[in-house]
Amino acid sequence: MIHFDLPPAVYKLLELFNSKGFEAFVVGGCVRDSLLNLYAKKSHIFMPVNTPKDWDITTNAKPFEILEILQQEHIRNLSVGIKYGTIIAVLDEQNYEITTYRSENGYASHRKPKNITFVDALKLDLSRRDFTINAMAYHPQHGLIDIFDGQSHLKAKLISAIHDPLDRFEEDALRILRALRFSSGLDFLIAPQTKAAIFLKKDLLKFLSKERIIYELKRILEAKAAPKILKEFGEIINIAMGCSLGKLDERRLEIFAHCDGFCERMAALLLDKSTQTIGDILKNLKLNNTESKLILKLVKYAFLDIHDEKISIKKHLNILDGNEREFESIIHFKRAIANHDGAEFEKLHRILELKTLIFQNHEAFSLKDLAINGHDLKNAGIVDGKQIKIMLDKALEAIIKEKIVNTPEALLEFLQLKNGFC
Ligand code: ATP
Ligand code: MG
Repeated sequence: MIHFDLPPAVYKLLELFNSKGFEAFVVGGCVRDSLLNLYAKKSHIFMPVNTPKDWDITTNAKPFEILEILQQEHIRNLSVGIKYGTIIAVLDEQNYEITTYRSENGYASHRKPKNITFVDALKLDLSRRDFTINAMAYHPQHGLIDIFDGQSHLKAKLISAIHDPLDRFEEDALRILRALRFSSGLDFLIAPQTKAAIFLKKDLLKFLSKERIIYELKRILEAKAAPKILKEFGEIINIAMGCSLGKLDERRLEIFAHCDGFCERMAALLLDKSTQTIGDILKNLKLNNTESKLILKLVKYAFLDIHDEKISIKKHLNILDGNEREFESIIHFKRAIANHDGAEFEKLHRILELKTLIFQNHEAFSLKDLAINGHDLKNAGIVDGKQIKIMLDKALEAIIKEKIVNTPEALLEFLQLKNGFC
């Protein structure tokens, strides 16, 4: 019998429900990921190692019974999802979703089930789930409950819808993007019938909210196998993005593959578009401001030269408000673009080294790093705000060019204010 470890809090919850006469199993993603870890340890076939993100429990206890049991045991709980049968138990600062076995039908707007029925059989609960690898349940004494061949699909690295994929995508179009997300994250193929259904039902993606789309897009694009997804499912990604990415040739896919994280990868996809178009695409996707701005900067800097000299680096750090992570991301992005150009790659590496030195030595590159400020200039008799700004900028330029040292005396002397007056 298959056996894998559960976190102590999960054992405790399963035992608690069993002791009250109810069935309780861990289910879904945590079972999938635990099995993958088990295979990775045991077999010589490469398997992705995934730490289960969350441990979900499914039980035949009805929602009010779940609540009663948790309350009796003084386990902190949150019942925001009680309508859908879910109650969150909070143990050791961790949330555990406990959900009553349920079946769903009559979906509205290709997304949400209109009717949820709490049922008595685990089988029915497993059968409402999306893919075979996500529809397994496990209990330390009863072992693995796998009625849809999830285990063999895991071993074969396959994403396969439960029942007729056409119906399943029609019910809930989010499953289309979830299929791509799991395929990208696990580097699994999508089974032929499921794949065909994705293309046939692709237009249903328009029923999804932008928030849902961007959440899934992020997870699809930042995962390792995303280049394969773009090749195979470019048409679907275009619909999700709400724009045409055009033909992504091998070179562009290579750049994309060398990029780290969502923003860099998005910038790689949008590299040939104008600032205006990129802004429109990201706004339409309701991407947050911070990420949108970074993507726009990455694309802009892809075509801007930064020299491997401290002066140039400090100027750009100043423009970027000293945001070191953003600077690193820009250089990393430029490195992904420079991939085959050894000299450029070396240069970018030196830039990163120099940047590290600048921060280590606390070298000045912005107005706030200057040893003097507006007040000092006011005290020295400069009253005009504009003039103060011009003088501070001039001082900063001299500091960045390393013409003078960053002390109040040197700066005031440079500005010819040593005696307090111009
Ligand atoms: P992750 O590790 O990314 O959290 P997960 O498989 O746990 O992956 P969740 O979104 O946490 O995904 O969902 C938990 C489980 O609920 C899934 O494994 C699946 O069984 C079921 N599920 C989630 N969303 C759907 C859906 N749209 N349609 C059908 N079943 C779903
Ligand atoms: Mg999960």
